[in-house]
Amino acid sequence: MNVYDSEQMALILGQDYELTERAEDADLYLINTCSIRRKSEEKVLSLLGRLKTLKQERPQMLLGVGGCVAQQEGARLLHKVPHLDLVFGTQGVYRLPELLRRRRETNRRLVDTAFSPELPNICGQSLPGALQKFVTIMQGCDNYCTYCVVPYVRGPERSRPVADIVREVEVFLGQGGREVTLLGQNVNSYGRGLAGEITFPALLGRLAELPGLARLRFTTSHPRDLSEELIRGFAELPPLCEHIHLPVQSGANQILARMHRGYRREDYLERVSRLREACPGIALSTDLIVGFPGETESDFQDTLRLMQEAAFDGAFFFKYSPRPQTAAAAFPDQVPESVKTERLARLKEVQEQLSLASNQRLLGEVREVLVEGFSKLENTQLSGRLRSNHVVNFDGPQELIGQMVRVRIKRAYLHSLGALLCED
Ligand code: SF4
Repeated sequence: MNVYDSEQMALILGQDYELTERAEDADLYLINTCSIRRKSEEKVLSLLGRLKTLKQERPQMLLGVGGCVAQQEGARLLHKVPHLDLVFGTQGVYRLPELLRRRRETNRRLVDTAFSPELPNICGQSLPGALQKFVTIMQGCDNYCTYCVVPYVRGPERSRPVADIVREVEVFLGQGGREVTLLGQNVNSYGRGLAGEITFPALLGRLAELPGLARLRFTTSHPRDLSEELIRGFAELPPLCEHIHLPVQSGANQILARMHRGYRREDYLERVSRLREACPGIALSTDLIVGFPGETESDFQDTLRLMQEAAFDGAFFFKYSPRPQTAAAAFPDQVPESVKTERLARLKEVQEQLSLASNQRLLGEVREVLVEGFSKLENTQLSGRLRSNHVVNFDGPQELIGQMVRVRIKRAYLHSLGALLCED
């Protein structure tokens, strides 16, 4: 979502600014922030500290902080960082031109963390030449999981009108785009509160019909709200890629209840079986938190067991980090940092085995790749993703970038696959 918001900032300000790679050339320096964990918040302050010298050398350069840390901290950030010009919250993105004009005209440092009950008017343009695009379909969340800061910094759940989403995707496809990822904190509840009945699977159905859309993905999906209609979509909608990110967070029922997740491990595993029945070979990724308050060794082992049972193809895992305003931050039985670190290492080991096994299962298969560019590691090789979201690198001519090609999988590594381009 932050990648999308940063792209929107670049587009909204495109009339007055162009992007530069060099901070020393910048007239405007915006930092888009995340507050999902304390560490990301600390990084913002440390970056702002390092920018003090640049700001002294270039006093005309405007320095702004946007996103979730800005939303959470508001005016406190201006007090902490005297060389900061502007703090704009998660909805302030769309008011940036006006905020910058006011900053220049009044010479007053500004804070804008206002929330409107409506979704902001998302401009929805695309960067020229892009193959892939994120499209916001909803913002905010009403779930209040006890560890999560999102409802406080992104506000209540609001869905974007279908017509706006379809128009944004159509324009992108008209410019040569191929792959769309729909974004929302809980995409499954898309449509609640919109005039006229529309569900998330129905929205997928509308988009899947658009000519030129090769791949359709979405994130994030709440396991509690994963409907049978959505599961069937994986079998019935050709552009919908065979990959789902389904954050489980913990494999222990007492922890899931304290997290306020609204499902048990049995419910989660049952949904995983349904997905695999409806769409054999679907790749499954997840998010996991270790060291949530009250997590015992036996709870943690339940998580390790669930990982094996679900056979996750990939996972993002984090140490629990208390966040301001959230219920779990005040829970008395916080887990010591050393225990969190040790559990994280064990969890990583299990996931590495599962990820490698997932890659190995593809050996010998011929699969379709959307060629995205050059490999990050070996920049003479081309790189892309399978529909299942596995990363694959292979030799081929640069002209293939942007095209869909077929490759045979030859090598399986921990984080990627090696392949040979098929001749036909
Ligand atoms: S559903 Fe996701 S975004 Fe919403 S509160 Fe829970 S973890 Fe946070």
